[in-house]
Amino acid sequence: MSRLIGIDLGTTNSCVAFMENGRSVVIPNTEGSRTTPSVVAFTKAGERLVGMAAKRQAVTNASRTFSSVKRDMGSGRRFRVDGKDYAPQEISAMILQKLKADAESYIGETVTDAVITVPAYFSDAQRQATKDAGLIAGLNVLRIINEPTSAALAYGFDKGLPCKIMVYDLGGGTFDVSILDINSDTIEVLATAGNNHLGGDDFDQCIVGWLLDEFKKQHHTDLSKDPMAMQRLTEAAEKAKIELSSAQESLISLPFLAQNASVPMHLESSLTRSRFNELTAHLVAATRGPVQQALQDAGIRASDLSRVLLVGGSTRIPAVQAEVRNLTGKEPARDINPDECVAMGACLQGGVLTGAINSIVLIDVTPLSLGIETLGDVFAKIIDRNTPLPCQHSQVFTTAANFQTSVEINVLQGEREIASANKSLGKFRLNGIRRALRGIPQIEVTFSIDTNGIVHVTAKDLGTNSSQDITISGSGNMSREEIDRAVRDAQRYAAEDRQRKQTQQLRDAAENLLNQARRAGKKLKGEDRPRLDSAVSALKDALRAGDEYRIRTASDDLDAVLRSVGTYASAPEGENDDGSYDA
Ligand code: AMP
Repeated sequence: MSRLIGIDLGTTNSCVAFMENGRSVVIPNTEGSRTTPSVVAFTKAGERLVGMAAKRQAVTNASRTFSSVKRDMGSGRRFRVDGKDYAPQEISAMILQKLKADAESYIGETVTDAVITVPAYFSDAQRQATKDAGLIAGLNVLRIINEPTSAALAYGFDKGLPCKIMVYDLGGGTFDVSILDINSDTIEVLATAGNNHLGGDDFDQCIVGWLLDEFKKQHHTDLSKDPMAMQRLTEAAEKAKIELSSAQESLISLPFLAQNASVPMHLESSLTRSRFNELTAHLVAATRGPVQQALQDAGIRASDLSRVLLVGGSTRIPAVQAEVRNLTGKEPARDINPDECVAMGACLQGGVLTGAINSIVLIDVTPLSLGIETLGDVFAKIIDRNTPLPCQHSQVFTTAANFQTSVEINVLQGEREIASANKSLGKFRLNGIRRALRGIPQIEVTFSIDTNGIVHVTAKDLGTNSSQDITISGSGNMSREEIDRAVRDAQRYAAEDRQRKQTQQLRDAAENLLNQARRAGKKLKGEDRPRLDSAVSALKDALRAGDEYRIRTASDDLDAVLRSVGTYASAPEGENDDGSYDA
């Protein structure tokens, strides 16, 4: 039987684990390391290198070495080597292939099934691309799960104590913070927030900037346009950063960094921890907003947290740990390995899926609300933000105009009540609706999101049973920044949006009354008819004037007339559809 592996496909490093005697165990690679650099290189001789071998030759082969490709997953970016373009998922697949091969040689069995982790805020396109990378690598991807969830699973599974925890995950390229509710047999993600472009690489870049300045001071030369020197500076910066997690000072020595008229130039500098803290204080501070957002979304205070888990190599930075302490008032838990717990959790999730473990259920949430555009630019939410996945919700809508035989479904993601202020994920048309007055057809719109976070939308005319659907994938998705902005905008414009929505609802209700009046008018006799005529024209005038108060009063008057005559017959098909009513 083929074995299942859990894979943390990281921006900087990747890790793989498998189940052994009911526990998840990290698999060392063939070089003997427990994590593998997520780096791929193509040598000039046509050989493909993955992991540490690729990282080591990056300096001398910078233009043919690719790292942090995870940042480009789901994008249209291509990596060109020897006239061939590689998609990010193809490069990622090469990393996955190595992990698979290393796992197979360690376990001594074939490996096909895998659970792969992604940052919590990865969009559909990014999740799909990750799944595709697995497929290209010859893996059967049973599930894509969020990294913080996976880490908590590794932690929660061992402990099994009911509590609310925060997972603070600062890796090489991404920052995620999640609030989780851990019970004896379930882990529910209450909220997630973060920043898709914040991680250890940025800390390295701060040191690189400082080193460039130091070099300029020493040699009056700018190295920023010299790719070879920049690669060496980046490596030295990361090394210094790692050293500063345990030492107060790091000596950076880069001999023969450049040449000036055949005279070699060297760089010798010493970076102290306090200077490093100053250079990177803005990065540490940038984790504050998402932490507060996640707590707010989960509806809890930091004092309600039982535990704070640190995940990702960058949480080893002392200033980051101090910030977590400061933000939460808690000493972060250290009994979990920040580099390995994500892969271990993915492996445990695999155990749940294959039935090897049956004592825990895992629930993820959707990061933003989903719904459709309705009349007057109003956003009708069908699935709320932070709803546990998988989920399916339906809502019945109707037509906006008389005898409309098709509707366009504009699938939206966001928190604003105004449709156009949200992000459109895709549109499709439902045709073949039975001809009827506005408001009569019943169109059921169903949203379902699977456990991988992939959205499927169906629209069905309940009268004719004709239906259309769409699976949201590809370019329409939102980046982390867009998601954060959507949430902030929603809070800022909440009152304004509500007002606009109310106005539209009022106009909608008025149009419905005019429709009823049109139908009723045909059957009226005697003095009822002029009463209705006058109420109708008062309402039409008010609508034209756009005066809300007058629309409300005229609607009430027309409603009262209609109620008093008590004629609400549905008009036969084929009559005027221009809003007029026949004599
Ligand atoms: P991850 O994505 O979790 O593998 O984290 C990788 C990031 O963690 C890289 O930017 C590393 O430079 C950084 N990192 C690893 N170990 C340390 C350490 N001891 N101190 C500071 N940063 C570290």
